[in-house]
Amino acid sequence: MISVRNLSKLYKDFIALNRLNFDVKRGEKIVILGPSGSGKSTLIRCFNRIEPHSSGSLTINGQIINDHTSLPRLRGMVGMVFQNYNLFPHLSVLDNCTLAPRLVRRTSRHDAEDMARRFLTQVNILEQANKYPIQLSGGQQQRVAIARALCMRPDVMLFDEPTAALDPEAISGVVSIINDLAAQGITTLCVTHEMGFARHIADRIIFMDQGCILEITPPDTFFTNPRTERARAFLDQMI
Ligand code: ATP
Ligand code: MG
Repeated sequence: MISVRNLSKLYKDFIALNRLNFDVKRGEKIVILGPSGSGKSTLIRCFNRIEPHSSGSLTINGQIINDHTSLPRLRGMVGMVFQNYNLFPHLSVLDNCTLAPRLVRRTSRHDAEDMARRFLTQVNILEQANKYPIQLSGGQQQRVAIARALCMRPDVMLFDEPTAALDPEAISGVVSIINDLAAQGITTLCVTHEMGFARHIADRIIFMDQGCILEITPPDTFFTNPRTERARAFLDQMI
């Protein structure tokens, strides 16, 4: 599904990602952990080319992601939910969800609204469809952002700290949404600082430090018996 080979990213001469290698299976849930500045956001931003990588290769669904990749097509295949949700403030919840399918996919308003209602129902927020983002709580905005991304029918969903600023109940809502997505075969890559959340959703943890991957391992192993000193120190700090 996803194949990453010797992936590097430089900002001028600073190495933000240093020769990363891993594969992800369809429907797998990967959680990326690591200290601040370790390259987590940079890594997932390479997947939809908000940041183009500098060298190495990145393949999604057999498609090589590079300068020649069509960005609208890629961003349809790879949805992203940001920490601050990034909803369009001047559009209602429903219009936030239908804008990209109508503009990029040329879906009719009627079909786009049908689909939006379906995903708003899935994330349990349909009753807010006619409100504007500012009228919603953080957790509600987060669910709208997820529904909006799903309206493009992505194969991969990227989450950058989706639980920041959410209360425990809203966090468990996001856990069940991500589990739902996996059951539908959608692959998830999620950056988080929330260890309980990571443990709950991850099939595998990728632990990064200074632009390198130090461990790729199931959460049980990572949290009880990390292989590297760096991961151990990172986890000790969390408690
Ligand atoms: P956090 O947990 O704080 O969000 P992160 O692991 O997501 O951290 P990144 O945002 O990926 O870290 O940043 C990795 C490194 O790359 C950092 O040292 C950062 O300063 C640097 N960096 C990120 N974006 C840029 C940029 N646009 N230009 C130059 N350097 C950048
Ligand atoms: Mg980050």
